[in-house]
Amino acid sequence: MEALLEEILDNASQYKKLGKPASYIPELAKGDVNDLGIYVISSNGQAFRAGDYKKQFTIQSVVKPILLLLVLMDNGIDEVRSRIGVEATGKPFDAINVTDQTLLSQHINPMVNMGAIAMCSLIKGKDYNERFERLLELTRKLAGNPNIHLDEAVYLSEKRTGNKNRALAFMLKSYGMLDDDVEDVLDCYFKACSISVTCKDLARIAYVFASRGKLPISDERVFPAELARFVNAVLVTCGMYDGSGDFAVRVGVPAKSGVGGGIMAVVPTRMGIGIFSPGLDEKGNSLAGTKALEELSHRMYLSIF
Ligand code: GLN
Repeated sequence: MEALLEEILDNASQYKKLGKPASYIPELAKGDVNDLGIYVISSNGQAFRAGDYKKQFTIQSVVKPILLLLVLMDNGIDEVRSRIGVEATGKPFDAINVTDQTLLSQHINPMVNMGAIAMCSLIKGKDYNERFERLLELTRKLAGNPNIHLDEAVYLSEKRTGNKNRALAFMLKSYGMLDDDVEDVLDCYFKACSISVTCKDLARIAYVFASRGKLPISDERVFPAELARFVNAVLVTCGMYDGSGDFAVRVGVPAKSGVGGGIMAVVPTRMGIGIFSPGLDEKGNSLAGTKALEELSHRMYLSIF
């Protein structure tokens, strides 16, 4: 299996430099396009890896499925469905998805920025520090890694320059969809995006969604299977933003990308995959990472369709 992963990374290498690191968050522009790594955890908990799998990068939007899971655990499916939608936006991750007159809760997708900002306000906690700490704790638990921490430099860079996200938050506020102070909610969102992870962390988290709520090896159940089905379904339809249809055809598994270059891919009942390469395509998805996943899917018949 590791020889296969090496071969796949070799083949995907030619695409590394065709992508560009995200530049709208100054700190992310420093990403090295030469990096490409993969980590796979199979159904019996066995791990396989290749390339730059030890490199740290920020989780960015890959935190959105974890955020969705946390608000589902805190509030239940019915309450969450009354506050946010599940339909794909078909638009970029930071789009202001509002018509002139209306913003309805069913238009708020949890895998794009507006939905994620709204979800920060649905986490239970006495203040936004406690809410973020609970999200961080859940991330650590799913990844089996108590050392996962915040990348301060990226967090401050996001906070300083994240005016599009401010616009999205004020839009929610103006439509009465955000009760709390905009800067408090955004602070939690910027911190959430700036959690530092590796391919191994993402593979572990993906594994738990693939096993519908159970940790590898110990088989400890962290959340009910119906919540995994909820999150995995949302990932198929919009985990790769307006590239989700293309990804479904080419790779065919629930997955989530982030502008840090990470992709978490969930192969239900079979494996969790974490992949990282900071060169992004025009939709903000890792270019070489997607290529590698496409080949892995073909070689191992991973498509769920
Ligand atoms: N922090 C990024 C932002 O808010 C997350 C977006 C992403 O990963 N697509 O724009």
